[in-house]
Amino acid sequence: MESVFYSPTRIIFGEESLKRVGEEARKFGERALIVTGKSSSKKSGSLDEVVNSLTSHNLQVEIFNKVEPDPSIGIVEEGAKFAKKCAADVVIGLGGGSPMDAAKGIALLMTNKGEITDYFGTDKVKEPALPIIAIPTTAGTGSEVTKYAVITDQKKMLKQIIGTPHINPKLAILDPLLTLSMPASLIANTGVDALSHAIEGYVSTQANPVGDILALKSIVLIAEALPGAISQPDNLKIREKMLFASMLAGMVINSAGAGIIHGMGYFITLHYGAPHGLANALLMPEVMEFNLEGNPLKFRNIAEAMGKKVEGLSEKEAAHLSVVAMRELLGKIGIPRGMKEIGVKEESLADFAKTVSKNKRLLTLNPRRPTTEEIEEIYRRSM
Ligand code: NDP
Ligand code: MN
Repeated sequence: MESVFYSPTRIIFGEESLKRVGEEARKFGERALIVTGKSSSKKSGSLDEVVNSLTSHNLQVEIFNKVEPDPSIGIVEEGAKFAKKCAADVVIGLGGGSPMDAAKGIALLMTNKGEITDYFGTDKVKEPALPIIAIPTTAGTGSEVTKYAVITDQKKMLKQIIGTPHINPKLAILDPLLTLSMPASLIANTGVDALSHAIEGYVSTQANPVGDILALKSIVLIAEALPGAISQPDNLKIREKMLFASMLAGMVINSAGAGIIHGMGYFITLHYGAPHGLANALLMPEVMEFNLEGNPLKFRNIAEAMGKKVEGLSEKEAAHLSVVAMRELLGKIGIPRGMKEIGVKEESLADFAKTVSKNKRLLTLNPRRPTTEEIEEIYRRSM
């Protein structure tokens, strides 16, 4: 069967690579808009560094620093208005997935008519967005190399996906120094998000041989590095591994897509405020348990990539070890054991399951197709 791998983003990786931003942005024009969160990039000094590098290369700089976690329709619209007012030539997303995704939404509204809601879905965008430079400060979403922007629709209570190669960043600058300021819980949540991308992309029905290599490498790196990233917060080598692994996982989902860990997790974020990565973490073991039989060989390989010995075991036994390894890793990094611990109520699960089962795209990508009842059962087991 044919398969597709696509990864158009140029990547500059390494300590102090942030210094390159001015020189690189200048190639796209004279006026740069920085899209960032409310405080972390200011506090860590990374925002100032970006501004200094841009101004020293004779760029005019404007800053939109209002992006909240899980960016809303409203904030993207407001950012786009601002971007038009300052006639930006290039949009720089600086922060976690939220500012990077908002930057993508803003950049696409600079070149495409209408409202951001017109572009929810796959391949709805007609014109290439304004050039986007993505600079992650978390090691998680991989948004710096993906064609996705995830926007929260508070009216419909949905996390809406814009999926189009027109918003793949032109350039990703990955400087591990920017991730040093993350507190432990953010390292854990975002690290597990990256792991969920590697796993969901690897077992996706749209997986491909190039992505599979990246996914397995990403899983190995995260399983090895994530506990140390938390216990040795000053160890830059470990942070670099995590940032590299999260980028690889982003490249994987760019072509292969994600599955029901994401589809189900969105509702835990929307209704209970759980950070994106934590929502995924809480659902991951039970979704894996359910998905195993859809592709036992790949789950065996995941177990092995996470450090389990699988020689001599049946494929089924070996595949199951991936769930064991996952539970051990989540325990080590302090993820709660179930959704009850973060206040999720049993009563909400049936409705969530119904809404998830309408998400045909993610259900098709999932290695085993669940019924609405099965989705509800996975939620219950994750309590
Ligand atoms: P966010 O960007 O939502 O940031 C979460 C919090 O972390 C914010 O309070 C932010 O502060 C803070 N923060 C960010 N970086 C640092 C840092 N270096 N030091 C200290 N604090 C920091 O987190 P994520 O990266 O997890 O992004 C999640 C979003 O990305 C979700 O909306 C999710 O759906 C989306 N996503 C997108 C994907 C894609 O391909 N486009 C893939 C997967 C997820 P402040 O706001 O002040 O900056
Ligand atoms: Mn994710």
